[in-house]
Amino acid sequence: MKRNQCKINGRIRHLILHRVQGQIRLRLHLAQALLLLCLFIVGLAPALSNAQAAKESSAQVTAIRAGHMVDVEAGEALADQIILIENGLITAVGTDLQIPAGATVIDLSDSYVLPGLIDAHTHLAMTEMPGADIDDHGTYYYTTLLEPTAFRAIQGVAQARTLLESGFTWVRDVGNNALYADVALRRGIEGGWIPGPNMIASGIIIAPFGGQFQMQPEKPGLGNPEYIYADTEDEIRLAVRKNIHYGATVIKLVTDNQPYIYSIEDIAAAVDEAGDVGIRVAAHASSDEGIRRATLGGVASIEHGTRPTDETLRLMKEHGTVLVGTDFPATRNGEARHAALVDRIRRAYDIGTPMAFGSDVEYYREGWTRGELTLEFLDSYTDAGLPNAYILKMFTMFAADLLGVNSGRLKAGVAADIVAVDENPLDDINAIRAVHFVMKDGVVYKRDGRFEWSTPRVMNNPRRKPQRR
Ligand SMILES: [Zn+2]
Repeated sequence: MKRNQCKINGRIRHLILHRVQGQIRLRLHLAQALLLLCLFIVGLAPALSNAQAAKESSAQVTAIRAGHMVDVEAGEALADQIILIENGLITAVGTDLQIPAGATVIDLSDSYVLPGLIDAHTHLAMTEMPGADIDDHGTYYYTTLLEPTAFRAIQGVAQARTLLESGFTWVRDVGNNALYADVALRRGIEGGWIPGPNMIASGIIIAPFGGQFQMQPEKPGLGNPEYIYADTEDEIRLAVRKNIHYGATVIKLVTDNQPYIYSIEDIAAAVDEAGDVGIRVAAHASSDEGIRRATLGGVASIEHGTRPTDETLRLMKEHGTVLVGTDFPATRNGEARHAALVDRIRRAYDIGTPMAFGSDVEYYREGWTRGELTLEFLDSYTDAGLPNAYILKMFTMFAADLLGVNSGRLKAGVAADIVAVDENPLDDINAIRAVHFVMKDGVVYKRDGRFEWSTPRVMNNPRRKPQRR
């Protein structure tokens, strides 16, 4: 086609030359006719390709027959629903929908179909391996000191796949990934190089001097590259800009892990700088005062939020600040700490503090995948006696809203991030531990309990930096 057009163009040039040279009118007419023909063909080309695209996309419609579809917003399971999907988006949901001819039909008529799961607090490129003589706190230090970014990124590739396999279609990664292994991972997944959930990534954690480390004066830099130390408003703004420059799509602040903690003004400066390009701030805050300051500083979420008073939980509710509780199960946390967390979950729920699921899994346990370890956190919410419908919202729509992504619900216009399980999660939330079908952005990654990943034939290199629009 292109070559033919060139030929025509060449002939027109040739004929126009003749006209300039005052050749006979017949040739002029021929040139005009050819020019018109050429313009007609050029004008037709986009119309043809649009028609072809429309034809192709109608062939790309996928229809899911859902025996039961969980409407997480309403907290109910609807029988015999059809979900139509096109170009990665849900286009229609209902009982009496016409399935277009040529659509790919996925039969989940024996299953409960629900939105893809979301973990709003993870660390894909950090894996603390238990050592013989090192307790857990020790392994955290050793991991950051001994494992280089390249190997951490490779670990991230493996962990990302297990999360997708367990039904997580979005995660928010909040740091401790050495030198931007999280951003590299996000680009790799977005570009189609490797399978994994879609990612919001923080880049390097910003913190007062020392980060979350306790250093000795001879080696003040041991917290690098896990933390950017920033101790004034100017340093905080610079650190936010550096992270965004290197590809962060959320900003993570550690507000209160040292005796010196950020002021409300410090935190507000980060929120202002990140907010200028539409990026939200997640604040690690465990103490009541740290949580209070971060809330008043305007952060989107409190990570951990371990020891808030009821008054501070009410302040969070008032400001719409989301609690991402990272509520470790008793197997990880021990009974005493677990009981305190369960009490805090219960208080936050009774007060009405907004909550979204975030795990904080960065550890390894033999026999378990990262995805399974993440779902073990369900124990904490069932121990707190939260309604199944509410827990499901924490794992889907509440987390999607916190991340600011178009996911977490099954309705027209939302991304086709869809999973399926055998039992009704509204009756027993533990049903979501056994996801047997996973679709992300309209593409199937797991079917009949088996992971699907074929050698990619389309890869690209998405931009590292989010762009101002
Ligand atoms: Zn964490």
